[in-house]
Amino acid sequence: MNYPIIYHPRLSPTWKDFGILIPLSGQRSKKVFTSLKKLGHKLEESDLKNLPKLSKEDLKLAHDTEFIERLFSQGLFKEFTDCFELIDENGNYNRYDPQSAKKELTEFMDEILCHLAGTSYAIDLALQNEFCYFLGGGMHHARKDKGAGFCILNDMILGIKKAQSEKKIETCWVIDVDAHKGDGTAHMTVNDPSILTLSLHMEKGWPLDHPDPDHPSKSPSTIDIELNSRNSQNYNLLLKEGLENLLKVQGSMPDLIIVNDGADPYEFDELPSTSLLKLSKEVLLERDQIIFNFAKERRIPQAWVMSGGYGQRSHEIYVQFLDWVLNL
Ligand SMILES: [Zn+2]
Repeated sequence: MNYPIIYHPRLSPTWKDFGILIPLSGQRSKKVFTSLKKLGHKLEESDLKNLPKLSKEDLKLAHDTEFIERLFSQGLFKEFTDCFELIDENGNYNRYDPQSAKKELTEFMDEILCHLAGTSYAIDLALQNEFCYFLGGGMHHARKDKGAGFCILNDMILGIKKAQSEKKIETCWVIDVDAHKGDGTAHMTVNDPSILTLSLHMEKGWPLDHPDPDHPSKSPSTIDIELNSRNSQNYNLLLKEGLENLLKVQGSMPDLIIVNDGADPYEFDELPSTSLLKLSKEVLLERDQIIFNFAKERRIPQAWVMSGGYGQRSHEIYVQFLDWVLNL
């Protein structure tokens, strides 16, 4: 099927340009895009002119006004260094070298707005074509009042709120299969019956290791499935149960599903904090097919974003799924 895939180099911010020395690479999207082309799929870079223009006011649909005002003022530096953990407890720079930055921090919000617009565009294209995959996005740790875990703003919740405000949808599910809990997404939707969330994630480790039981990272998803060395062999069975149970909670079909398609549960992921979950390529292909087929069989539009995936091999998880989808 000739489903839309959204890709453009500008839609994958390169953190290094701002002096951030975290090995999160925009190259991953490019690798997926070029690999799919090598497999014979006729893909073209997206035309950025077609992306919705997001304003500061749009961001306030999802996030607290005070937080957004801080991002567009002198407060940006603190929000930025907190989110990317760039200053350690002794006040020294951590994985941060502003001298090496090629871009001014003032350009940061422009790049983020462009990235966020990719997810809103994916929602629009999914509503028109039943499926769309954005090779970017998935900033599921960003909360209502603050960025966290390298995610400054939550593209998925913003995209949903914008689509709701434009009366394109009423209800939505966020299916989060990244290795880390979608804690920001849960925090932003905990009192919102129009957005249900399912998160399958490692039962221990960041972001669940905060000592304060009332910390926002402990906000519950509608359904949380916590994985460990015992139950992760049944990953796809638990996923199927989770999807069926979400349907029972809602009592009807949602107008849209967003999939936060993390590749970091992959056994060859290189981020040390994902080592509790080591799923094979085959299990991850089946995972993505289960979600795709669940939505397709019920004719629920589905918009997918990439989320986490670190190291030389994470692109393989996206390539195998998209190759399958595009050959349907
Ligand atoms: Zn992750």
